[in-house]
Amino acid sequence: TGFVSIRNLRKSYGSFEALKGIDLDVAKGEVVCVIGPSGSGKSTLIRCINKLESFSAGSEIRVDGIPVASGRALARVRAEVGMVFQSFNLFPHLTVRENVMLAPRRVRGTTRADAARQADILLARVGIGNQADKYPDHLSGGQQQRVAIARALAMEPQVMLFDEPTSSLDPEMVGEVLDVMRDLARTGVTMIVVTHEMGFAAQVADRVIFMDAGQIVEQGPPAQILSHP
Ligand code: ADP
Ligand code: ADP
Repeated sequence: TGFVSIRNLRKSYGSFEALKGIDLDVAKGEVVCVIGPSGSGKSTLIRCINKLESFSAGSEIRVDGIPVASGRALARVRAEVGMVFQSFNLFPHLTVRENVMLAPRRVRGTTRADAARQADILLARVGIGNQADKYPDHLSGGQQQRVAIARALAMEPQVMLFDEPTSSLDPEMVGEVLDVMRDLARTGVTMIVVTHEMGFAAQVADRVIFMDAGQIVEQGPPAQILSHP
């Protein structure tokens, strides 16, 4: 079984089955890109992994051996699973640095000084060390998404989930966000990435998963999955 282990994952919205029994194991350090048509269940799949969505009884998701569904473990799973959304979801009334400091302060009780130091290291790592005192509104979309990545990294997650992280960006900003993600992949972060960026998937993914109608219909190394006529 994998570091992230998913067994028979089913999810329905009313009578509509969005996920029809997904089995997936992701190893530590592995980068998995999830592709497939709109509405195929990609977003639902990764939202189930940190329990942003509930899922059907009989389904099982474990992260580092810890079941995602059980009440008490949920907080621990969320501390271990970082998530980056299509929309950046930054707090507009907090500076960039404060956005990154928030979770460690609230969840871990990290001191203000330590959280600020850590935030500045992370902001430098995503290439926006000089923007720390600004408010999110004063940053470009690409910069805001890099703040969102830094904020997720601040909890030192074991797994990073990305849900179409570049889809709401102007084209000229896509590259800077993908570059940050490429660096994370190189440093051994376990990543599950829903994306339409086939170039990124081809270059960075260890494995590509193709979903259709709530099922994984194909998976393998990018060269195999992305080379179809
Ligand atoms: P993808 O990420 O591949 O575009 P989603 O996981 O967002 O697909 O959605 C899978 C299916 O579930 C779609 O048909 C979508 O319309 C449906 N769906 C998603 N969220 C809801 C919801 N909250 N209520 C009802 N149906 C939903
Ligand atoms: P429950 O259904 O158990 O009350 P939810 O799964 O609906 O909890 O989560 C409550 C809210 O917390 C969600 O709407 C979501 O915005 C937020 N949330 C929970 N976990 C995360 C996370 N890992 N990252 C970002 N936001 C989260």
